[in-house]
Amino acid sequence: MRISTITNWAYAVTVMLTILSGGAFILSAHSAVRERTAVETRRQLDELVDELAVAAEQTTEDARLFVMRGEERHLQAFRSAEGEERAREHAIKGLKSTDLSPQELVALRRLESDAEALDQIEEKAIADYANGNRDGARQTLFGPEHERLQTDLLASVQHFIDLVATRADDEFAGARARTDLWDTIAKSMLGLTAAVFIGVLYFVLKRRVATPLLRMTGIVNRLAKQDYDVEVLPDSRRDEIGEMNEAIQIFRDNGLERERLDAERRRDQKTKDHILHLMHRLQACQQQEELAEVVSLFAPQIFPHLAGHLYLMNGGRSALTSASRWLQPSRSHDVLAPAECWGLRRGRPHVSDHSRDDVPCQHLEEGDDACICIPLSAHGDTVGLLYFEGTDGGKAMVTARLYIEIIAENIGLAIANLQLRDRLTHLAIRDPLTGLLNRRSLDDEMNRLRRDTVDRPTACLMVDIDHFKRFNDEFGHDAGDHVMRQVATLMADTAGKSGSVYRFGGEEFTIVLPEATGRSAIDIAEKLRSAVEAAPVTYQGRPLGTVTVSIGIASTEDGKPAATLLQRADAALLRAKSEGRNITLVDGSDGSPNHRLAG
Ligand code: GH3
Ligand code: MG
Ligand code: MG
Repeated sequence: MRISTITNWAYAVTVMLTILSGGAFILSAHSAVRERTAVETRRQLDELVDELAVAAEQTTEDARLFVMRGEERHLQAFRSAEGEERAREHAIKGLKSTDLSPQELVALRRLESDAEALDQIEEKAIADYANGNRDGARQTLFGPEHERLQTDLLASVQHFIDLVATRADDEFAGARARTDLWDTIAKSMLGLTAAVFIGVLYFVLKRRVATPLLRMTGIVNRLAKQDYDVEVLPDSRRDEIGEMNEAIQIFRDNGLERERLDAERRRDQKTKDHILHLMHRLQACQQQEELAEVVSLFAPQIFPHLAGHLYLMNGGRSALTSASRWLQPSRSHDVLAPAECWGLRRGRPHVSDHSRDDVPCQHLEEGDDACICIPLSAHGDTVGLLYFEGTDGGKAMVTARLYIEIIAENIGLAIANLQLRDRLTHLAIRDPLTGLLNRRSLDDEMNRLRRDTVDRPTACLMVDIDHFKRFNDEFGHDAGDHVMRQVATLMADTAGKSGSVYRFGGEEFTIVLPEATGRSAIDIAEKLRSAVEAAPVTYQGRPLGTVTVSIGIASTEDGKPAATLLQRADAALLRAKSEGRNITLVDGSDGSPNHRLAG
């Protein structure tokens, strides 16, 4: 119930009680008036009856004086007293004629008859006196009959007074009792009104206002400190306090919702930050292995509930191999064929989950985890596959879907860029025919050797195929290319990890052997020369004959600068050519013609 309703009811009850107590006061006052009226009536009756008795005595006195002395003035006094006496009798009759009890009326009539009898006897005595019977008149007025009548009148008067007094006392007592009763009722009503007022005030102020307000103040203070654990008890009262409680409840719910949204926003921001960091790292990756490691490091930070693989497409585009994994994925194989994945087949993200709504990928083991395969593609090429699986029935996957696709797009681009860069680098530093490092790479290497002061010696071999023109001329240019590739392969195999092989130009090659002594350089050169000479060379089933090479060697072991290596090795090669070919010559330490090693 609303406080205003309670106060309105209390007001109505208070007003009603006040009216009732006012009415009781009025009735009490009315009884008091009746009490006063009863007293007044009795006083008037008493006075009139007393005056009547006194007047009767005065009339008798005047009549006796007249018959004794015969003076006119006593007769006039008798007449006047008699008139007054009659007027009083009339007044008594008029005053109480309606209210008098039958007993009182009888007593009043008796009083009147007694007075009348006394008047008659006195009138008769006065008349006798006037007729000359003076003695008779005196005997009448002083006789026993007159005495008796006078005594009867006094007795009647007294009797009437007693009756009136008794009745007046009864009326007075009744009026007093009623006055007391209404007075008590009025006071009780007033007390009740005050009690109701104080009770309502106490109830409204303490129970309905002060206590809930105190409780709500505590709650609001805690909410102000963002302590949303505070419990707001439901209050079904439809009053202002109930409305305030409801408002606080809404305030708390809003606070909780705001806090939840803040936490969600912070989580989302953290995810976005991780994604941004991942993208920056992806752009700075130099190799695909590096990229795979970066993905496996950031993926679990971005999606803590999703395990996964990063697959890379092999060169032959026949299989994808897991380059990195995170959070122990259990359903997908490490190697898969492109045809086994519906994502790769369709060229778009594919979800395989236990709902069986869609066909699952064939590279997946049986399991309850939801899986998603996102093909990684860029510049129209599929370069790999990003794979996630989640244990929560795919909920995390659904919410993370947008981010997963953004990341997949960036990883695909980064892989494609790395592959493009690898291809461009390969084109820039490799010879397309033989696959060996090209002249530019050799220049870079020689510049590096010139720049760096190396304590250990470096050797350089210049290799030229003997009479190469003949292969072109006899078997065609393609056969010449074939011979060139075969010799290049033998050079790469012979040098192995000891050095780098470069195509210097035409059918001439350079082998740089860092940290090689002159002796080990000669060994490698001879090994190469023998291998070339011994290798059978056929092209499209036709034998091409023996291929030989001439080799010139120079080394920094003799103290000459690295900058002169190429020039000195080339000079030794020229001399090898002039000395008959298929031989190895070492640049002489004294600049003299090189000594022949073999051939
Ligand atoms: P020498 O023993 O004196 O070195 O005789 P040679 O015939 O090997 O040397 P020469 O300089 O006379 O001829 C080199 C030939 O190699 C000329 C050129 O047509 C050929 N040649 C250069 N580059 C290529 C190539 O890439 N492919 C083919 N098939 N031939 C090439
Ligand atoms: Mg040649
Ligand atoms: Mg040549």
